[in-house]
Amino acid sequence: MQDHPHLRYFHETYQASRSGFRNLLPKLQEINPRTKIGFITIPSSLDTDLTIDYFQLPSLKKTKSTLIITSGMHGVECAAGAAVQRNFLSEIYSSQINLDYTSVLVIHSINPFGFKYNRRVTENNVDLNRNFLKNRKGFQRFNEGYPKVFEFLNPKVSLHSKSFSSRLFLMKALWTIIKMGIPAIKQASLQGQYHYPEGIYFGGTNYEPLRKPLGKLIRNFAKKSPRVLLVDIHTGYGERGKLHFFPSDPKKPRFKKYTEEIFEGYKIDWASDEEFFTVTGDLCTYVYKILPKKCEIIPMVFEYGTLNSQSTLGAIESMKRLIRENQGYHYGYKNHEERLIMTAKFLEMFHPSDPEWRIKVIEDTINVWKKILPRLQKY
Ligand SMILES: [Zn+2]
Repeated sequence: MQDHPHLRYFHETYQASRSGFRNLLPKLQEINPRTKIGFITIPSSLDTDLTIDYFQLPSLKKTKSTLIITSGMHGVECAAGAAVQRNFLSEIYSSQINLDYTSVLVIHSINPFGFKYNRRVTENNVDLNRNFLKNRKGFQRFNEGYPKVFEFLNPKVSLHSKSFSSRLFLMKALWTIIKMGIPAIKQASLQGQYHYPEGIYFGGTNYEPLRKPLGKLIRNFAKKSPRVLLVDIHTGYGERGKLHFFPSDPKKPRFKKYTEEIFEGYKIDWASDEEFFTVTGDLCTYVYKILPKKCEIIPMVFEYGTLNSQSTLGAIESMKRLIRENQGYHYGYKNHEERLIMTAKFLEMFHPSDPEWRIKVIEDTINVWKKILPRLQKY
């Protein structure tokens, strides 16, 4: 299994993943002479080499559909997303895309800081997928549920997993669940918050610097396309080894219809479904804002489950790793060993080392491309 060809798409670090991505240029130019490569530099006080890289693959005649694939919104999740992108560019682009009428934009590692430093968030502790608010007023909006879970989510002491208080995590989690119920906890935390900069699910107090250049790139590339499918790749949420589809609830019912047409045969988890939660400031909100009204937009999150967070114990374990990583980052670790163990657990949650999991990610996605791309390109 170790030498399975799908495994070659996975890289362990940001730098290796980025090189692997950039190295595809000559092959892509051979397939499509209009191929362009580019990057956006992310300003940082810690690192001068953080870039978002992209390939623009415009149609050869007239664009009737556009496919956009983004990875690494949550940095540490990028390795799998980038693997899916490289597989797409190496095998799927030439065989499943109608080069005359379909344009493709592939954007590698939207949150390069998070990928490089194994964090889900940006350098400002911002969960990017809560930062794409429609307007700045959104940053003032207070998440009423968050203070109720604040202490549970954000212990303000250095991380010592064997301490008495850490050992009580499961009990504290169960107690919070009994008191509030899982849906209320999910809503209070996952929705995003804008008032506790060191807390988890912090959406920022202002837009992150990448928003503008990323928006410009997407708008300029896709604004003339009648139809746009945006695939944003994530890992960590849901049943292990399963590919889940999370769309954003569209403003227009006809967009919902197109989504259901293209993903026919797959279970789609609409945010308005009762057991689900709503988030503020996700990328789809922004894409709706920057593309023309007449453009049919189909935003879809591909989420590859890792820890069975659909079950109560899985959800508690996921929450524990998120909380502890954030705690360790802000308040330090009891010792070096503690840091190593935590980092490894956090990585396993978003970038599993298990070759079986990795092979399945690529295989499942190939099958999905083969089903949905002909539907997107019915001209
Ligand atoms: Zn994610």
